[in-house]
Amino acid sequence: MTDLLYHSNPLLLDFPAEVTETFPLPGGRFGALLRATAFYPTGGGQEHDTGFLGEAAVLDVYKDEAGRVVHVLDRQIAPGEYPARVDGERRLRAMQHHTGQHLLSAVLLRRFDLESVSANINGYAPSTVDLAVEDVPAETLRRAEEEVNRVIFENRPVKTYFVDEARVAALPLRKPPKVSGQIRIVEIEGYDYTPCGGTHCPATGMIGLLKIVRTERINHKLRLHFVAGLQALEVFRALHDSARAAADLLSARPEDLPALTQKLLDQMSALRVENETLRLAALEAEARSLADSAQTVGGLRLVTRLYAARPAAELRLLAGKLLAAEKTVAVLASEEGGKLSLAVAAAPDSGVEARELLNRLLGPIGGRGGGDARLAQGGGQGSETQARLLFEQTRRELLAVQGSSA
Ligand SMILES: [Zn+2]
Repeated sequence: MTDLLYHSNPLLLDFPAEVTETFPLPGGRFGALLRATAFYPTGGGQEHDTGFLGEAAVLDVYKDEAGRVVHVLDRQIAPGEYPARVDGERRLRAMQHHTGQHLLSAVLLRRFDLESVSANINGYAPSTVDLAVEDVPAETLRRAEEEVNRVIFENRPVKTYFVDEARVAALPLRKPPKVSGQIRIVEIEGYDYTPCGGTHCPATGMIGLLKIVRTERINHKLRLHFVAGLQALEVFRALHDSARAAADLLSARPEDLPALTQKLLDQMSALRVENETLRLAALEAEARSLADSAQTVGGLRLVTRLYAARPAAELRLLAGKLLAAEKTVAVLASEEGGKLSLAVAAAPDSGVEARELLNRLLGPIGGRGGGDARLAQGGGQGSETQARLLFEQTRRELLAVQGSSA
């Protein structure tokens, strides 16, 4: 069996490795077995280490079915002696989160009777602890967080040792061991005793800081997402920088951002209401002016107008306002990028059906639309010239209808 150096010294990163066996793995990778290793293999909720074995990169480390620690290499090497190096930052992040998780779970159980049912350690994204409850008051989590950081600042030693099954019963373990025989205990001195095979900080101070950043309810469990150490610094820095940048934009202090944002949102909705009122008033005035500009076609008044890139909803609103004008038919068009939008209004006393008129106008431009006898809207492919032809078509149709009914 491989001697697991990380058990006795989690700070050991550089070591002389003796490669006893190598073999090809799928995907062009190679496996290497070592007489003794400081590389941690994935397990117990903690991810594997990475690093180098001589010139070969160690991409993955796992325990195979036979319990052998397999180092997955990016290239083939021959058995022999090599200088080995574990990625120190990755290991530190894992240790900070792993030890932080022990402490968080211990505090939640000791002080608040909340049991951790599972955990996932991640040094580069928030780690998680799942609690066997659906909800925990925010105040409880805040107090737990304070207790965790108090123990971190006490810099309590974290000890690891093996005990046999007979002696394990005498220890106040936080959870029962999953293995038998010699059981490895991780003790946060005088505070927490947990069976665990992972890598941990030698003292709580090395965790640096622990902060719960989010809670999430999953299948009747509450998942706590937390950050520690290096990652806590990164999260703090990112939040601080973005709060600072937002505050600078508003010439405010970061701590005033929530109140100021609320004030701005309130102002914005007041302005939106005011803007809508003004817009409708402007449309009313525009509709009156359009009605005044109508040309007389037989006994009817025809309003045609072409706009550039005017929103279809606004076109419809404007056409609708012309319904109140006596004996009026309106065809409003907007051209944008080779597409024509049309809105047709026919006053009740005009004797014209808006939907039918629209359908006839859409024919030449291969368009589609809908509406009723008074107001209809549609669109198709067409240019400004096409729009003017449609206006002319409307004029002729109105004359023809009146001619036939006269
Ligand atoms: Zn552990």
